Amino acid sequence: MSPRSATAVKRTSLPRGARARAATVVERLKDEYPAECALVHENPWELLVATILSAQTTDERVNMVTPVLFAAYPTVHDLAGASLAGVEEIIRSTGFFRSKSRAVVEMSQDVVARHGGEVPPRMEDLVQLRGVGRKTANVVLGVGFGIPGFPVDTHVTRLTRRLGLTRSLDPERIERDICSMVPPEEWTGLSLRLILHGRRRCTARAPQHQACVLRDICPSAEGEPRSLRTPPWRPRAPATPAARQ
Ligand code: SF4
Repeated sequence: MSPRSATAVKRTSLPRGARARAATVVERLKDEYPAECALVHENPWELLVATILSAQTTDERVNMVTPVLFAAYPTVHDLAGASLAGVEEIIRSTGFFRSKSRAVVEMSQDVVARHGGEVPPRMEDLVQLRGVGRKTANVVLGVGFGIPGFPVDTHVTRLTRRLGLTRSLDPERIERDICSMVPPEEWTGLSLRLILHGRRRCTARAPQHQACVLRDICPSAEGEPRSLRTPPWRPRAPATPAARQ
């Protein structure tokens, strides 16, 4: 395939009208929601820990646990040297506490061993830390460092498809699609606002189309179009909720 035709395939893979819809979604959601991350943290390392703990539980639950965790292990060096049993006891209520405990301790060990105790502000380095995948890395880049990143969680996956901004259910492909249409300075804010919209209005089971500010531009406002209902494949679930989110 020539370079020209390869480019054409890439371009036509976006749903029709996606680029214009994306611009409208960015602006309308700005009027509705703040670009806020609900996970309480004081620095990128605490955000990294909180994001790992947030898998399969609520931000509120994580915010109840992290003050206790950071009081017991105030620095990355402390958590790197912690016993798994001690951490498990504190984070038990977040669910999947054994794998999450291992993930936050091993991540901290990697930060100490490879980066002198400082969380690295680069995607390439973040995803090399044990327990850290692209979603978590993008949260830390965007929220922790102010470096553009587009985290794709279950809400973002659902909404970007319903809104006809992507044809994919694969988080990496969704990230590529959105980042190809939206300017970098909007990536993190858009992801955070899509998550809020997904929690409050465009829920998985009962989306409130009538009350939605995106209703007039949303291809799913009258129910999901057939093309979005039967995806050709489904993303593979991680081995554990804490594994490389
Ligand atoms: S119109 Fe309905 S499906 Fe579309 S974004 Fe709003 S709530 Fe979700």
